[in-house]
Parts: sequence; structure tokens; C-alpha cells
Amino acid sequence: MQDCIFCKIVRGELPSETIYTDEQVIVFMDIHPTNPGHVLIVPRDHHESTLVTPEPILAHMAIIAKRITPAVMAAVQAEGFNLGANTGKVAGQVVMHTHWHIIPRHSGDGLSPWRDLSYKEGEMQEIANRIREAL
Ligand code: AMP
Ligand code: ZN
Repeated sequence: MQDCIFCKIVRGELPSETIYTDEQVIVFMDIHPTNPGHVLIVPRDHHESTLVTPEPILAHMAIIAKRITPAVMAAVQAEGFNLGANTGKVAGQVVMHTHWHIIPRHSGDGLSPWRDLSYKEGEMQEIANRIREAL
């Protein structure tokens, strides 16, 4: 896609600190890291989000995530990592080209991406039923 910044990186029209590339994906450093070592796994083809990306590409992204992550962690002595995809503007997706974040984590780094709500009586089962029916 012409105006997509990740397509421009794929085409070499914008610079990136690339750490891995193959015929399907490119992995480069996030320019504004959540923690140092934050990388992005990006398919070469333009798809708007994970939801509309062909399954073989997603499978390859998962394999590459597994291969890349130990090196990312070793580089910054991380104890863990978050693998995530902001999907849709409401979830914080800014670049509308599929990408997965690998964010190295350290104890006490202050990041708290999730909270622990509680369900009302029966609510969890009701939502689970709706999800199962939609599958
Ligand atoms: P998201 O909010 O999930 O769409 O994430 C987009 C990510 O892309 C953000 O973490 C940005 O810091 C990152 N980003 C935007 N432009 C660039 C760029 N030119 N090079 C590397 N990372 C970028
Ligand atoms: Zn694109």
C-alpha cells in the first residue's frame, strides 16, 4: 500500500533497524520502545490486522516470534516478554498494517497491561456461550 509506513519500510523507502528478514516477514526495532529491545514482527504483504492476515503468514509469524524472542531477551537480559497485537483503533492500533510486538520484561519495570476484573454470577458462562455460538 502506497502510504503505509510499514510497507515503505518493507520496500526500503524508510529506514529501519532490521534484525531479521525472509520472504514473508521483516522484524525490526520499534522506534518508540515500550522497553528497550522492543521489536515488531511484520508481514511483507499489506494486511490491515491479524484478523484478515492469511493463516499461513500468521503461522510463520508465530514461528519467527519463537525464534527471535530468546535473542531479544538475551540482548537486554529480560526475564520475560509480552507478545501482543493491538487490533483496531480502540485497542491502540496506530499502524494499520499487521504487526506483533515483542516487548522484553523485567521485574519492577512498572508495565501493567491488564487488570483483574470479576464477573457477575453467570456472566462468564453467558459470554462463553455467545463466543462458542459465534465460532
Ligand atoms: P500499534 O500502536 O500497535 O499500531 O504500534 C505501532 C508501533 O509502530 C508503535 O509502537 C510505534 O512506535 C512503531 N513505529 C511507528 N513508526 C515506526 C518506524 N518508522 N520504525 C519503527 N517503528 C515504528
Ligand atoms: Zn502496509
